Amino acid sequence: MALNLQSTVKLNNGVELPRLGLGVFRSPRGEVTRQAVLSALAAGYRHIDTARIYGNERDVGLAVRESGLSRGDIFVTTKLWNDDQGYDSTLRACDRSLEALGLEYVDLYLVHWPVPGRRLESWRAMEKLLADGKCRAIGVSNFMEHHLEELLGRAKVVPAVNQVEQHPFLNQQSLQRYCAGKGIVVEAYSPLTKGMRLGDPRVVEVARKYGKSPAQVLIRWCLEHDFVVIPKSVHEERIRENANVFDFSLSAEELRLLDGLNEDLYTGWDSRDVP
Ligand code: NDP
Repeated sequence: MALNLQSTVKLNNGVELPRLGLGVFRSPRGEVTRQAVLSALAAGYRHIDTARIYGNERDVGLAVRESGLSRGDIFVTTKLWNDDQGYDSTLRACDRSLEALGLEYVDLYLVHWPVPGRRLESWRAMEKLLADGKCRAIGVSNFMEHHLEELLGRAKVVPAVNQVEQHPFLNQQSLQRYCAGKGIVVEAYSPLTKGMRLGDPRVVEVARKYGKSPAQVLIRWCLEHDFVVIPKSVHEERIRENANVFDFSLSAEELRLLDGLNEDLYTGWDSRDVP
């Protein structure tokens, strides 16, 4: 069936994750984030991606509660920050996030970064949080293959998700294959390259062909690769534009062209060398 804004992917524990969500990194706390989330929910988004370190959990929670939608219809992700890693501190951090969000549970709780020496203890706590019903699914972010190998050797629960940077200019194909083989869903962050490659002539050319914007082509590229995708914008018009990606698809040739643009462009963090 054709994808739409409410399409989901089933995680390894059966929970359904909407394939397109709104990211709120660098979305200023207060009214701006609250309005962005309200605009997204009004436009049909059902998935919001925040994190403790973004400082805007409170505003995300306010908008979720004000939206008029039932809690069960909105998928909320937040993340465990590095300073909070460790067993007891992870348990406490989740409670603090839930309090800030004003929610009883989050749908997905992610270990934000593979902090050496602490991430395994953090994961044990994540497993407890899952068992206690404080999150419906648990996963990781910025984990490379070697971090996942180590984790899978110890974990009782296989991460449902690995959230990593993905776009044609950083396509991490080996990591994608690894995650697919383990049943871990890849979530693509910074899918718009934080704006850095929206003017690339090859992307612009594909966009022109479909009467779409470069941002829409990059989001569609993620969907064609079965990544969950979480573009960020604080502008209502762009929030709507970024969700208007279900009335075209990229041909095999265009996908090959875009896949060929890889230049290992990390627009933010690069965790490859984290031991
Ligand atoms: P994106 O690649 O989503 O790019 C966001 C930038 O693009 C903003 O400057 C935004 O500006 C602009 N933009 C949005 N839509 C359009 C459009 N249609 N046309 C032109 N420009 C546009 O970057 P992010 O790094 O924010 O990544 C997305 C989300 O992924 C984050 O918000 C966060 O939730 C998550 N993330 C997770 C990380 C992790 O470590 N787990 C790391 C980084 C991100 P404006 O808002 O002004 O519209």
